[in-house]
Amino acid sequence: MSMLARTLIVFCAFLALAGTAGAQAPLHVVASFSILGDMLKNVGGDRVRVTTLVGPDGDAHAYEPTPATAKAVRGADLVVVSGLGFEGWLDRLITASGYKGTVVVASAAVKPRKMREKPGHGKDAHDDHEAIDPHAWQNLANGRLYVDTIAGALGAVDPAGASYYGERAAAYARRLADLDTWAKAELSAIPAGKRRMITSHDAFGYLGDAYGIEILSPVGIGTGSEPSAAGVKKLIKQIKAEKIAAVFVENISNPRMIEQIAKESGVGVGGELYSDALSGADGPAASYIEMFKHNVSQIVATMKQGLY
Ligand SMILES: [Zn+2]
Repeated sequence: MSMLARTLIVFCAFLALAGTAGAQAPLHVVASFSILGDMLKNVGGDRVRVTTLVGPDGDAHAYEPTPATAKAVRGADLVVVSGLGFEGWLDRLITASGYKGTVVVASAAVKPRKMREKPGHGKDAHDDHEAIDPHAWQNLANGRLYVDTIAGALGAVDPAGASYYGERAAAYARRLADLDTWAKAELSAIPAGKRRMITSHDAFGYLGDAYGIEILSPVGIGTGSEPSAAGVKKLIKQIKAEKIAAVFVENISNPRMIEQIAKESGVGVGGELYSDALSGADGPAASYIEMFKHNVSQIVATMKQGLY
């Protein structure tokens, strides 16, 4: 057999294999919440089918899995969670589902942010303790670490798609890097001393660390606790004394408390930020990239108003 013929046979065998792989049913991947679900779709493309447990505008802190959730998890090829304590319901769900596959922690490569967890964040309270902040996706550099981890995990379960995932992850990571450059430029236009904001629950610490924003929140890291009356009063006093104009509501939290704080401190509410969930498809934050763009634009526009 000539060299050319042999090469052709090998080439045809390769095409046949590639064809088979393409015709395979997509991997069924379960993502714990909407932001991860979007990352998985970006990296996984046509080779994955994503089920997202906590959907748009959902609160993953307060999520209660159902028997239908357990069924979806049982049949999954891969489960991906954010980790750092965000999905407090996860272990129970995995046990109840009987799922025996891999649970990938997308934040595995992230340097966790520690913070003092207590209502009001006053420095004189006795009940403060250090807690890990789970909202790591609010820094785009961490988002890129998530994407790497996701690509590696998909490639491990589906080795035939490893290079496909790798290429898609690299292209997506470049878009995140460009967005990060834009966000840094936007925020650096605000004087450092004016980069301060109030949100209801403490979901933007990683954003604050990455872009030099001081963030105050009356509730704390989770969404389950009510702020103390004293904590709220103290925050209102601080908003007035320090002339903090950037006060935001969040898509996953009840806006009532923030609206009350804004009213009593005489500042306007700077719009809605997306913290722990994307918007629906028609909303302004239907993807991780759109969410980030929306949040930074809202923050910058509101802080700029406070400058004049
Ligand atoms: Zn949260």
